[in-house]
Amino acid sequence: MSTNSNTPLNFLEEIIEADLASGKHKTILTRFPPEPNGYLHIGHATSICLNFGLGLKYGGATNLRFDDTNPVTEDTEYVESIIEDVRWLGFEPANILYASDYFEQLYEWAKVLIQKGKAYVDFSTAEEIAAMKGTPTMPGQNSPYRDTTPEENMALFEKMRAGEFPDGHCTLRAKIDMASSNMIMRDPLLYRIKHAHHHRTGDKWCIYPMYDWAHGQSDSIEKITHSICTLEFAPHRELYDWCIEQLGIFPSKQYEFARRNVSYAITSKRKLKLLVEEGHVRSWDDPRMPTISGFRRRGYTPASIREFCDRIGLGKREMVADMSLLEFCIREDLNKIALRRFAVLDPLKVVITNYPEGQTEALETENNPEDPNAGNRPLTFGRELWIEQDDFMENPPPKYFRLSPGGMVRLKSAYIIQCHDVVKDANGHITEIHCTYVPESRSGQDTSGLKPKGVIHWLAASNAQKAEVRLYDRLFQVEDPASEEDFLATLNPHNLQVIENALIEPALADAKLGERFQFTRLGYFCVDPDAQPGKPVFNRTVTLKDAWAKEQQK
Ligand code: ATP
Ligand code: MG
Repeated sequence: MSTNSNTPLNFLEEIIEADLASGKHKTILTRFPPEPNGYLHIGHATSICLNFGLGLKYGGATNLRFDDTNPVTEDTEYVESIIEDVRWLGFEPANILYASDYFEQLYEWAKVLIQKGKAYVDFSTAEEIAAMKGTPTMPGQNSPYRDTTPEENMALFEKMRAGEFPDGHCTLRAKIDMASSNMIMRDPLLYRIKHAHHHRTGDKWCIYPMYDWAHGQSDSIEKITHSICTLEFAPHRELYDWCIEQLGIFPSKQYEFARRNVSYAITSKRKLKLLVEEGHVRSWDDPRMPTISGFRRRGYTPASIREFCDRIGLGKREMVADMSLLEFCIREDLNKIALRRFAVLDPLKVVITNYPEGQTEALETENNPEDPNAGNRPLTFGRELWIEQDDFMENPPPKYFRLSPGGMVRLKSAYIIQCHDVVKDANGHITEIHCTYVPESRSGQDTSGLKPKGVIHWLAASNAQKAEVRLYDRLFQVEDPASEEDFLATLNPHNLQVIENALIEPALADAKLGERFQFTRLGYFCVDPDAQPGKPVFNRTVTLKDAWAKEQQK
């Protein structure tokens, strides 16, 4: 949320400040109006931060309103997830409202239009209506039903509501101007017949308002002062203003901003739904999904997503924000708050041959060097340890600073060790390595004078615990999957790696849902809801460095 008084105002803030200064509005009311036909994605997050952010900044308020006018695609599961996501992002709606609660009022207003001769029931088929619509350079044709009398239209519309016609038999259309240069003003549809069960109104209605008829009037009913939407609705503004004028109701005013998309992600509920339905991901909140619930499960913090939305800002031109920026925001946040822990994802056994058998030793290390109040935690050192397979190389290239035969490395917060033997199985695979430790090199009390360049993390075999660790990569291989003919073909086949037998330090074994950690040298991790007592499961939120960006530069 940009509260910094030095940052220049964006165009909406300028409008709002002018409206407040001129007394046009005493206070402002914005709204976030999702259609409950899927889970919210990162594009919606930008709209939520914008609407709620403006409400907060100017001491106004923001409604959450479900634009639930399409019974076929909507579901209470989506309603519930949307409320949860908005709250999780840190915003509390002033009211949680539903366009379906306005169905009766919208119906009454449709009758007002009919009485004024501004709406008519049309029995033309969808094809005929399309054919009569004209083109942007050619005016359309009037429907043969356009001049039906208001009395007759009223009777027909009541029959529509009473269920006397089958689906698609007729529609209610506004009577505006079939020659308008704005195609949306060419007698737009207001109502269609759909004998379908609605998740809130049940079977009460068999006619449903079109989005265009419901949306503007819903804003007006709620007395939304600044109705903010994405650019594709700019041509609809003329229609919303026309309806408000015809009905003489509260004049909400619409302002448009450009959609925010994010690279390597899809920001369309319809396409995200396909990923879930076809099993390319496990669920809407799969940590690979660019949904708000996916980012939550992945370990993103609400603050990091708000910061991202703030940094990409607001504009009138479509833009694709870089996924790396979102990753930067979460790293910044987690660096400050995540407790440091040791985990070994691909274990290699190390035996310290000069350390007494059966003996262990208590060491200490910091919980978070960025936070002096985070304190220390105990580590156990012993004769048998685990390190990462790739922290050892039998034939290292020059400038390899980790462990190799004859080489030395520091075990973080413990001792310097030197490798003297490599043990292999019958197939030549390394099964363990033998090292000696330097007793006078203990971290914090090092008198050895040795300065190995590499520092690696490790675990004591005596108390390391097992855990499942899930590593994620970009969901898609291309920057703009939505522009591909078949976006599913661009899925990254390596977007998930499950490590069933990773090892973790004992302090992690009973980590709770919602806790976030930095696994030293490996990245930031959080507990997945699949975790159970005695069976910890961790998700990697993000790596420590932008490995992807580096890869791209090669
Ligand atoms: P989708 O294709 O995902 O269904 P939508 O715009 O149809 O997108 P709605 O539920 O109608 O989804 O959106 C609710 C609000 O979120 C609208 O005001 C819409 O303008 C805004 N919104 C949706 N996608 C984006 C985006 N990528 N960037 C900014 N705002 C968005
Ligand atoms: Mg929509």
